[in-house]
Amino acid sequence: MANKRDYYEVLGVSKDASEDEIKKAYRKIAIKYHPDRNPGDKVAEEKFKEAAEAYDVLHDPQKRQQYDQFGFDGPMGGGAGGFGGGFGGGFSMDDIFSMFGDVFGGHGGGFGGGFGSGFGGRGGGRPAQHRGADLRLKVRMTLAEISTGVTKKFKVKKDVTCSCCGGSGAEKGSSKETCPTCHGSGVVTRTTQSLFGMMQTQSVCPTCQGEGMIIKNKCKACGGTGVTKGEEVVEIKIPAGVAGGMVVNVPGKGNAGIHNGVAGNIQVLIEEEPSDTFIREEKDLIYNLLLDFPTAALGGQVEVPTISGGKVKIKIEPGTQPGKTLRLRGKGLPAIQGYGHSTGDLVVHISVYVPKTLTKEEKTALEEMQKSDNFKGDTTTKQTIFQKFRSYFS
Ligand SMILES: [Zn+2]
Ligand SMILES: [Zn+2]
Repeated sequence: MANKRDYYEVLGVSKDASEDEIKKAYRKIAIKYHPDRNPGDKVAEEKFKEAAEAYDVLHDPQKRQQYDQFGFDGPMGGGAGGFGGGFGGGFSMDDIFSMFGDVFGGHGGGFGGGFGSGFGGRGGGRPAQHRGADLRLKVRMTLAEISTGVTKKFKVKKDVTCSCCGGSGAEKGSSKETCPTCHGSGVVTRTTQSLFGMMQTQSVCPTCQGEGMIIKNKCKACGGTGVTKGEEVVEIKIPAGVAGGMVVNVPGKGNAGIHNGVAGNIQVLIEEEPSDTFIREEKDLIYNLLLDFPTAALGGQVEVPTISGGKVKIKIEPGTQPGKTLRLRGKGLPAIQGYGHSTGDLVVHISVYVPKTLTKEEKTALEEMQKSDNFKGDTTTKQTIFQKFRSYFS
């Protein structure tokens, strides 16, 4: 990922370019350096790919904001789906072609449909790469785990590189041979009429499926594919602040690619385990504090639990009413990296507990209090509310 050019520079637009300007700039470059206009031209192919990567990031407001903020590393430092890991190496020509529909809209059907996946961008004779399929996992996380982020280990059943042939697919002692149909280029070329006049188009060699090589003696362990069923223990880092429904991408940990192709990714779907103690509201945690009546009336100090497993003391003012909320700044959940920086709050919602049974002494004491005007609610206010309520419905 060294010496990468700034995405804005690649597309030749300013930092504050509109989405439309970015789209137009990309379209211009994509047409200019399209592999079908520049068959076999390595420089053009690189420019084409570079522009596609830049466009992929800059046309997506969220990715663009992250790029502006963090640069190529992305919000998760490349470890779990940053730009460094997510793009770069894994960006295939197929991915780029899948973006064309979006850029060229209904016009230029020649790009979207006509080329497509058959042409793998290996005009220069580089063999085809079969990318391994992605794997999907679900991870169930408690709010406590979400508050810190966790690293979890998974035993994953997946396609692994064949240990007998090392992924080549050829039996030990034998080697691959150059494909007689395409002479190793992996593509066959034909001349056709297209959008830009007479053009050479290339398609995947039917004999070798684009690899440029054929296997005479196939490896018996893998049947010549270079991959076998296996297991791997994978460590996955889930960043703090995630929420149910989010997907964390782990590049290169999915199925191995056929014949040593690029491995797929693991996509981890986050599931959130409901908590008995807290209700989550984005970054805030709501805690329902059931306060005893004497403390509500007299004031005092009580403890409330925190997400880290500790407790925090809060002061109750004398005469605290049910329904009052106290906000403990920064005691909620952290923001997921790249989506703002402030940590949420712990919001304490106060209810007042009324005992369900009373002892004889308590009953006497309460009956005594009942006589005091001080213990009667503000009846005038209540009446006013009641009047409004009635007039609203009549
Ligand atoms: Zn094998
Ligand atoms: Zn061939």
